[in-house]
Amino acid sequence: MKLLTFKGGTHPNDHKETTQNIPIKELAPSKIMVYPMSQHIGAPCNPVVAVGDDVVMGQLLGESTAFVSAPVHSTVSGKVVAIEKRPHPNGTKVMSVVVENDFEDRKAEYIKEYNDALTLSASEKLELVKQVGIVGHGGATFPTHIKLSPPPDKKIDCCIINGAECEPYLTSDYRVMLETPEDVFEGIKEIMAILGIEKAYIGIENNKPEAINVMKKVATNYSGIEVCALKTKYPQGSEKHLIKAITGREVPSGKLPADVGVVVDNIDTCTAICHAIKYRQPVFTRVVTVSGLGVKNPGNYKVRLGTSFADIFAAAGIDEAITAKVIMGGPMMGTSQPNLDAVAIKGTSALLALTKEEISLDEEIACTRCGKCVSKCPMGLMPVQLNSFAKIGDMDTCLKYDIMDCIECGVCSFTCPSANHITQRIKLAKRKIAANRKK
Ligand code: SF4
Ligand code: SF4
Repeated sequence: MKLLTFKGGTHPNDHKETTQNIPIKELAPSKIMVYPMSQHIGAPCNPVVAVGDDVVMGQLLGESTAFVSAPVHSTVSGKVVAIEKRPHPNGTKVMSVVVENDFEDRKAEYIKEYNDALTLSASEKLELVKQVGIVGHGGATFPTHIKLSPPPDKKIDCCIINGAECEPYLTSDYRVMLETPEDVFEGIKEIMAILGIEKAYIGIENNKPEAINVMKKVATNYSGIEVCALKTKYPQGSEKHLIKAITGREVPSGKLPADVGVVVDNIDTCTAICHAIKYRQPVFTRVVTVSGLGVKNPGNYKVRLGTSFADIFAAAGIDEAITAKVIMGGPMMGTSQPNLDAVAIKGTSALLALTKEEISLDEEIACTRCGKCVSKCPMGLMPVQLNSFAKIGDMDTCLKYDIMDCIECGVCSFTCPSANHITQRIKLAKRKIAANRKK
């Protein structure tokens, strides 16, 4: 079988064996649930409830009139006890609606099985995706309704469903593919209906042969959906690299997948779309891989959004004495957590409690110009130069070296024998450039 791939990239130890064979287990939500008004790329929502309000599952808590945004709903029933800034997984404090859970799981009346998927128009389906607030579950959290409504001049002819799950440790998409593949396919069918396309590809790395087999079997019941085996290589799940591997198309610098006729969505986003059309249901839960040597009972847990990291780790068991670092997401692109105060949000794919053996604690030393970061950069950039110029704050030269094309995959830092924090420096420089452009 010919495996599809891209140039550059690397092969970190994937550590997936710890959780990949453990079935998804549901976790109880917290007593105090916190809903940050910003769980997506775009404008934060404004709360639409008040302290003292009774709320039910699926009730709208916050929304925004901005073009790029996604509403936030309650995932439990109970009472609003505060509207205030609370810790967000991105390390800041964000305006949040705090609900005291009554554990009665009373649902909004509108959530039920509708059986009208065949009669809804594409625009009605798109509106449902928008109303329930779906964002990309892969971690980028871009509002899905915007992805699914490209400008009229962009002719989309296929979508790619990202089942690569190339970050080490992560196996949540893998378990979703094994345990609920029909919901994924129903979601893909709805994406195809909304975009008016007849072709979809599901890209899965070849270190997941069981998932490839299951998805290929289910695909025989659907027309136009093809499962593609991809070479296992990080960052195979990046949008641009998936598109290149599967269609051969290159997304030009500064352009988007829609510019080459493609929309990319994550496996679990498809599940969310299926539930949005079938039940009008916002995302109440998502599967989170909880792993790392600091976790006593690693596994894939179905977590209610709004549940605190402290409660998730309490259920999975964390050995704080040996945990050196907690990360939300994967070790290559995830976000370090200073404590366990933040909560599971729409983009929480994993929580890792890593020991010092699992992370690099090496001190940065001077670059030896070995060129490893350059040969491995999947975007064909010059990380060594970006590192040097970002360090001295020379943003103009960073721009000349196409810093904005960096996908922040972490490959350069991972490969650097001198332990240079290249990705981190590039990220900061990109934020600075973006802020200056706004001014
Ligand atoms: S983080 Fe950026 S510069 Fe570094 S390897 Fe990835 S794309 Fe290249
Ligand atoms: S990998 Fe590290 S040491 Fe080698 S050229 Fe890049 S920055 Fe320098």
